Amino acid sequence: MKLGSVNETSVQTTKTAIFERFKLKAEEAGTLPLSESCFNKKRNQYLSSCLMEDMKNHISAGNNIVIGITEKDIFARNLNFVFGQAELGGRYAIVSTARLKETFYGASQENEKLLKKRISTEVVHELGHVLGLEHCLSRHCVMFFSNSIVDTDMKSDQFCDVCKNQLSEIGFHL
Ligand SMILES: [Zn+2]
Ligand SMILES: [Zn+2]
Repeated sequence: MKLGSVNETSVQTTKTAIFERFKLKAEEAGTLPLSESCFNKKRNQYLSSCLMEDMKNHISAGNNIVIGITEKDIFARNLNFVFGQAELGGRYAIVSTARLKETFYGASQENEKLLKKRISTEVVHELGHVLGLEHCLSRHCVMFFSNSIVDTDMKSDQFCDVCKNQLSEIGFHL
């Protein structure tokens, strides 16, 4: 679901990534306005756990997984920022595209191809958590922890064999 106004490309990229990686057809769940009570003025960022709570209060996941996409910068307690957040083995996740954009790092123009790859990677990563996967030590695995955009660019949007095996144990044969 869109959290605030979200670029259509970000939405389509998310749906494509979910289909390509998990063979699941994602449905759009509408827009939830960003709650100002989750906004930290000093930091100029939204608290991701707050947005997640908000999402849970507004949409029931049932047997599905709900992933929220925001263009805004988000943070978690004790972290300067996060690319996303997910409930480990739960039903909800959030991805922020703010720091996936080259323009965030000073580029004058967006690199659309790179942005799509980054969004796919982060979406697959957060969904991996929702499916119960923790961080992986393999640098190129999508479940590697991204501390910076360099880490994100280093990994692929694919699971390594160890993570694939874990997923197949819960019935996901990728
Ligand atoms: Zn993670
Ligand atoms: Zn892995």
